[in-house]
Amino acid sequence: MNILVTGGAGYIGSHTCVALLEAGHTVIVADNLCNSKAETIDKIKQITNKEVTFYKIDVTDEVALEVVFATHKIDGVIHFAGLKAVGESVENPLEYYYNNLVSTMVLSKLCKKYNVNKFVFSSSATVYGDNKVPFVETMNLLPTTNPYGETKAMSERILTDIAKVNPDFSVALLRYFNPVGAHESGVIGEAPNGIPNNLMPYITKVAKGELDKLRIFGNDYLTVDGTGVRDYIHVVDLAEGHVAALDKLTAGVHIYNLGTGEGTSVLQLVKAFEEANNIEVPYEIVERRTGDIASCYADVRKARNEIGWTAKRGIVEMCRDAWRFEKNHK
Ligand code: NAD
Ligand code: UDP
Repeated sequence: MNILVTGGAGYIGSHTCVALLEAGHTVIVADNLCNSKAETIDKIKQITNKEVTFYKIDVTDEVALEVVFATHKIDGVIHFAGLKAVGESVENPLEYYYNNLVSTMVLSKLCKKYNVNKFVFSSSATVYGDNKVPFVETMNLLPTTNPYGETKAMSERILTDIAKVNPDFSVALLRYFNPVGAHESGVIGEAPNGIPNNLMPYITKVAKGELDKLRIFGNDYLTVDGTGVRDYIHVVDLAEGHVAALDKLTAGVHIYNLGTGEGTSVLQLVKAFEEANNIEVPYEIVERRTGDIASCYADVRKARNEIGWTAKRGIVEMCRDAWRFEKNHK
């Protein structure tokens, strides 16, 4: 299939481009590079030895995006393009609502116009809010604590309503848990701008000596050791989940959790990283971070049963691959 990947130069998008190309699909990337670099497209080509068509455009720009639809016979879209920094979304809600919602609407509009009926959307476990773990796809969604999370819940609703009145439209809403790690080549990975917000990229910067110590946000949660528990998933497993969802997509809306089903605490992840890479990660315990929940992990049965996908890579591989990329990355 010819797949349009919005946000394909980004962290999850680039790994998914590799997985799509390796599965024999053709990839067209639309990315405005607001949080990524054009050289990532070359790295995707380098890893796969395949061609990638790249458009440096903003997905909220309907005129620019229509050129892509008019030029290529697109069979499906995967919509990664979006802003994702939770704290920034609280500071600048309009930018987040505009970018994340308008991009979804413009893309849906062009899908309808050009009869593109396969739509895979990057959602997030954040839509579950503080539900009881493990999170199951059938749960009622609870309010999230920030505009970023709201854009994910709203985009899910927009796509669901569109599918209701378009019987041919097939939508996969993929709720990611915590993607970490990097491609095993060490060529592509997660390279956030500035000081990382997320745990794994923070750990790798501390290990590298670029940050002096990790600050662990709270050790008084009701969890195995008091620190927050998350379901970390290797980004390559996540990428493969997109290929599986796309291949098996049928008409209607299908929601899948993409996680491992395993919860890991902050302290457990730090220890696993230290052991996997034989390197020390100094840390201190500080106050809880506003908006954080104690535990978040997936019920993964639906993706396994319906699209035949399960995560294969464990915490040790996640830690090794994250560190390999960080060491290679300037
Ligand atoms: P990322 O920032 O690395 O990638 C997003 C890409 O989209 C970037 O290359 C950016 O330049 C591009 N982009 C943003 N707005 C755009 C626009 N208007 N037009 C064109 N390109 C635009 O982020 P990621 O971690 O790869 O996340 C991909 C998607 O998955 C996002 O929608 C994110 O919200 C979602 N998600 C990420 C996580 C996570 O922890 N990384 C978890 C759940 C969901
Ligand atoms: N965390 C931490 N220090 C950091 C970053 C994160 O202790 O510098 C904790 C955070 O409180 C949470 C877990 O690590 O329990 C995962 O946080 P991340 O921001 O990576 O993901 P999210 O909170 O979005 O699930």
